[in-house]
Amino acid sequence: MLRKTVLCSLAAIILLAWSAPLKPDASFASPSRPKLVVVLVIDQFRYDYLMRFRPYFVKGGFNRLLDGGAVFTDCRYDYATTITGPGHATLLTGAYPNIHGIIGNEWYDREQKRKVYCAEDTSTHEVASGDEAGTAPGFSPRNLTASTLGDELRIATNFRAKAVSISLKDRAAVLMGGHTPSAAYWYDTGLGGFVSSSYYMSALPAWVDDFDKQTPTKSYCGQKWQALPETPDAKGKVLSDFQPSAGAACPDAKFLRWLDNTPFMNEIELGFASDAVRSEHLGKGPETDILTVSLSENDYIGHRFGPYSVEVADVTLRTDRYLAKFFDDLDKSVGLDNVWIAFSADHGVAPTPAFIQEHKLGIGLARPAAVREAAEKALTQAFGPGPWIEAEDEVHLFLNRDTLKARNVAEAKAEEVAAEAAAAQPDIEAAFTRTQFVTGSLPNSPIARKAANSFNFKRSGDVFLVFAPYAVPSSTFTGTTHGTPWNYDAQVPLIFWGSAFKPGFYATPCQPIDLAATLAARLGLTQPSGAQGMPLASALK
Ligand SMILES: [Zn+2]
Repeated sequence: MLRKTVLCSLAAIILLAWSAPLKPDASFASPSRPKLVVVLVIDQFRYDYLMRFRPYFVKGGFNRLLDGGAVFTDCRYDYATTITGPGHATLLTGAYPNIHGIIGNEWYDREQKRKVYCAEDTSTHEVASGDEAGTAPGFSPRNLTASTLGDELRIATNFRAKAVSISLKDRAAVLMGGHTPSAAYWYDTGLGGFVSSSYYMSALPAWVDDFDKQTPTKSYCGQKWQALPETPDAKGKVLSDFQPSAGAACPDAKFLRWLDNTPFMNEIELGFASDAVRSEHLGKGPETDILTVSLSENDYIGHRFGPYSVEVADVTLRTDRYLAKFFDDLDKSVGLDNVWIAFSADHGVAPTPAFIQEHKLGIGLARPAAVREAAEKALTQAFGPGPWIEAEDEVHLFLNRDTLKARNVAEAKAEEVAAEAAAAQPDIEAAFTRTQFVTGSLPNSPIARKAANSFNFKRSGDVFLVFAPYAVPSSTFTGTTHGTPWNYDAQVPLIFWGSAFKPGFYATPCQPIDLAATLAARLGLTQPSGAQGMPLASALK
């Protein structure tokens, strides 16, 4: 024992002597403050899309970021639940769900005995244009248990900085915006317009009303979704054609639903974001403002067709062209010299189960229902008739505590039996128990670490499931999904663009939690309350 201690001390002294002396970093001496920070997120956008489709990009879109930005080539989420709600919360809080609390798009709430939605808030209502105002439930960040970059910017400027958050998806806009934004807007397909919630405002500002009243969806009436001539392997074919009902006016509800599965909604959304910059005077005030934008069509289309489809190729190329226009708009209204842009994604995506099977990569289709059945059966065999499992969600099994009590079975023992049965299923890589998380007795493995970053003591279930690589919990064979720790779901772009950043490609491994940490450090702000990311100092001027 003594020998070991001496050896350890010696090793520590040698390490200290050999480590490079601490060097000051001049870039932090005085915070630089652009007029506007834009955090751009594309839903379900894998890093490899930037490389695969680069030959087909135009000049001012993604190429503007790739040529002029600090591009991190190996940015991977270090958690197990790569889903939309958790991803957006992670990017702007710089923390994982164990801290920010958004463990899924929805999860089972044991006290309320029902599933709760990540952005739900029954004390709020939707704020929309015209007669529809106030009729639907609203959304808010009440389930988010950490502050965001925008929150810290607002607090540091005594709320003079403006923070606006926009997405087609409510949860993306709400979770990126955090607790104190000036405004958050998302798209209500049923109404065919952008809306907000009474959490943020009592009525939409006039410019949003005007935008909605102009019915931008109308200009797509009569259009087909036809692949661009440049889209590889598509040969300009029609990818989706709308068939109106006889005598229907356009845009009607059916048309709006169709449009919501085409790239065109990204164009409308970026037009709305450009309007927001102009109308809310972002980048014109005394402080740095922040705009967070998440484009959602890439996710909707990716789910239906998979990452190797011509549809995903085409939405990527079209998004590139829409972004070129958006960046030009920013230049006109704020001046790009005054803007920093940070770009990332909330998650990647798996190939479709059909693709996986065809190319013998793995099982293809995972069957979560079979996992639950196996766990219930094992518990019944061990302890008698159940019901033993009360609920399940994307990655958790929740044990029925009434049954445990009635049969006098220790929770830890039941968790173990359920986890063992789940882990024996071919589509499950690992199953961890609540007791393992709580007592710190997880195995020392990368997958256990990722699971721990996803596990929230208050909200997570009793058994935590990790699907095997290429076992995709998709609802269809030809569609696909994401939500696992594997690199196809976890690796995303991370680019910083603007006067504070050294352009170039950086192979340094990093994580999306470094986005908020880097921006907060460079702006001279307090890090968001739960942020665990590291400022990427090598990319700073
Ligand atoms: Zn998705």
